[in-house]
Amino acid sequence: MIPIANAFEIIDRETPLLGIESVAISELCGRVLTEDIVADSDLPPFDRSQMDGYAVVAADTENAPVELRIVGESAAGRGWRGKVVSGDAVRIMTGAPVPDGADAVQKLELTAESETGSSVQIAEPTKPGRYIIAKGAETAAGTKIFASGELVTASMIASVAAFGYSNVRVGVRPKVAVLSTGSEIVPIDQTPQQDQIRNSNSPMIAALVRESGGTSIEHPLAADDVDGLTSAIGNAAAGSDILVITGGVSVGKYDLTKDVLRSLGAEIFFERVRLKPGKPAVFARLGKTLVFGLPGNPVSAAVTFHLFVRRAMRKMQGAAELGLRPGFAIAAKKAKGTAERDTFLPAAIGTDDTGRAVAVPLKWLGSSDFIGFSRADALIFVPAGTTYEAGDVVGTFLI
Ligand code: AMP
Ligand code: MG
Repeated sequence: MIPIANAFEIIDRETPLLGIESVAISELCGRVLTEDIVADSDLPPFDRSQMDGYAVVAADTENAPVELRIVGESAAGRGWRGKVVSGDAVRIMTGAPVPDGADAVQKLELTAESETGSSVQIAEPTKPGRYIIAKGAETAAGTKIFASGELVTASMIASVAAFGYSNVRVGVRPKVAVLSTGSEIVPIDQTPQQDQIRNSNSPMIAALVRESGGTSIEHPLAADDVDGLTSAIGNAAAGSDILVITGGVSVGKYDLTKDVLRSLGAEIFFERVRLKPGKPAVFARLGKTLVFGLPGNPVSAAVTFHLFVRRAMRKMQGAAELGLRPGFAIAAKKAKGTAERDTFLPAAIGTDDTGRAVAVPLKWLGSSDFIGFSRADALIFVPAGTTYEAGDVVGTFLI
């Protein structure tokens, strides 16, 4: 049995960067950058008005109300090119450039334009810089906005677009084959007969794969027999970057996954991790395909996916951060680990009425209870031999 940190090291060592491709910005969300995003211009590119109103010389408004002469208009996309001097005002719109000589804006609500439009009364003083975002204040040309290795979220897209990146270089998506095994498992569109259960793992793993930036191929179920499993594993591995197998990795008589992997010539890097749930997790390579053998219990499969498969998928795409995002929270209930293994308890993260993050361990009957798990957005890390009481600060990982 190896420690989790060791399993991570082995995964990092054995997992290659798949490759780099260029994608249109419309396809960028959820991908990993393999180039830096650099500002090609100052932002804003000119002193920009934040308000509809009048660009003025602030000193003129000191003793407001004051009447100023309207000398022009600066609209978004069509600025006024003259020079504002004391006594002048320029009608200005949100997003428009502030003309030379003006050092402040007064908002429309605090002004009254004359009927003829030749002058404006400014009702209250404004001060230098008011309602103006100075050229370059948001960012200066040449600034690195995002670094290679970052995962792109929807919030980042506007910045990428603003600096002209219509196409961006990203890591190639891993192709992940999904193979659920077990003689008791039937496809979800069938009514389970005696002793059978529906295949909840394949759709779950496929969803996790897509959430991790990969493309998934679900393969037909394989029963617990050597011949069937041999051809199923061989087929599923062919042409895939990663094969995720669930089931058949423990010590039972019909747990055949590892035997079949060995007989196919796979190199097994680890097969037992000091982890709960998920002790029998397997990591191997068959030909060029990395193979993860996850326990069949859906919760164990999910936890080991988050810890191990997601990590490899991130590495393949060139991600700088391979692990789950760590944090801290107050335990809402007692959280007990085991003596020998580190435990990852599914939890929901919320806040209490003092604004502190709280982790609520989810009710579960064990690693087969995927209904409890379905509300999880984090895992509470309970080191081997540790018991946390309600109110203790615990380490969490977001999933
Ligand atoms: P195993 O890892 O094969 O020993 O399976 C452990 C438990 O997980 C057993 O109760 C299985 O019935 C269950 N299980 C295995 N594969 C699946 C699956 N694809 N969907 C739902 N439950 C599964
Ligand atoms: Mg089984």
